[in-house]
Amino acid sequence: MPDDDHRIEPTDAELGALGHAIRRALEIAETRDARAPIVAAVLVDDRVVAWGDNEVHVAGDPSRHAEIVAMANAAADDPEGGLEGASIVTTLQPCEMCLGAIGMAGIGRVVFAAGKESVGQGYFSYPGLSLDDFAAAATRPFGWAGPVMEADVLRLYAPVGQD
Ligand SMILES: [Zn+2]
Repeated sequence: MPDDDHRIEPTDAELGALGHAIRRALEIAETRDARAPIVAAVLVDDRVVAWGDNEVHVAGDPSRHAEIVAMANAAADDPEGGLEGASIVTTLQPCEMCLGAIGMAGIGRVVFAAGKESVGQGYFSYPGLSLDDFAAAATRPFGWAGPVMEADVLRLYAPVGQD
């Protein structure tokens, strides 16, 4: 199945949130603290309900990717609401762990800035699995848009030696 089958058009709200996430990631990079400059947001009905920064090196927890943190924050704020039909925007294409969690949460839309093809290899543990593999295997509708605004953020994730 070609990738195009699962492509979506990002909404204005998703693009606005992604632009905000990119600015935040650039700010985090400027601080040069322990945080990896990756930022995500969860939207419900085109409204941002939660943000998340990558906290892997802050929490000492390899699972605290920005998408996981954003989903946890969204669920913490509204434990009964669930994330079915929500969307997630993120400054870097979600890894396989996050795609699994996104699917488990019922999030049906993913919009990302920097794409796997353009960034360092270390961000993906199963590079042979494509977004289309996840979409084709999903039990619920799943679509994505990206790379979007990649040029604005790519320098944060460029392969080593190319920055
Ligand atoms: Zn991830």
